[in-house]
Amino acid sequence: MSASSPFTAPEPTSLPILHSTERYYLNRVYCVGRNYAEHAREMGDDPDREPPFFFTKPADAVFAITEGVAPRGVAPHLVPYPPATDNLHFEMELVVAIGVGGADIAAADALTHVFGYGAGVDLTRRDLQDAAKALRRPWDLSKGFDFSGPCTPLVAASAIGHPTAARIWLDVDGETRQDGDLADQIWPVPDVIAALSRFVTLRPGDLIFTGTPAGVGRIEPESVVTAGIDGVADLAFRVA
Ligand code: MN
Repeated sequence: MSASSPFTAPEPTSLPILHSTERYYLNRVYCVGRNYAEHAREMGDDPDREPPFFFTKPADAVFAITEGVAPRGVAPHLVPYPPATDNLHFEMELVVAIGVGGADIAAADALTHVFGYGAGVDLTRRDLQDAAKALRRPWDLSKGFDFSGPCTPLVAASAIGHPTAARIWLDVDGETRQDGDLADQIWPVPDVIAALSRFVTLRPGDLIFTGTPAGVGRIEPESVVTAGIDGVADLAFRVA
């Protein structure tokens, strides 16, 4: 069991790095809302003129799918079905890992702040989110809950470069549900970093989930999810 007392430091959240023995220690986790036009439309918005907006997840919501969360009893390749929802949704996303911090970063310089990339699923309690929207209340607990950010190991940009066009897809029980392309992001990664760094000082260890293509939908207990971003990472998990 992990230490659970306010007098000992909690275990830091970290992700493995592909082809490295080092780990990437998380600071904060930001997420972009509606960054693909077709997804914005399916959520009932006009994607044309909306600037990027952001929400957050707690850092310890993120975990490596390949490793699970051993001290808290989540086995590799399992994602627990969360409490307090009857409508858990998947959102497959490119995840950016910041390596060099900064504020007011220019888009032209933004990629020099990126350590690497991964593929993550922004799990969402859609029923809670819909209720929050209707009541003009915060989204926090619809997006930021235990194990709501399963993620692949990270891969360094020095190994794969900076992906700008690549298939991003997700299957549930072998059926393709999301099938998009990073090239269809309304706000590409440099613009996302530039916009976010106007609101907060980015630091090493900050992750950014960069939004999801169209096709979001529900997953149930026992659903098997397979997904990937070509040239970046693949993932597979079962909902437990
Ligand atoms: Mn999302």
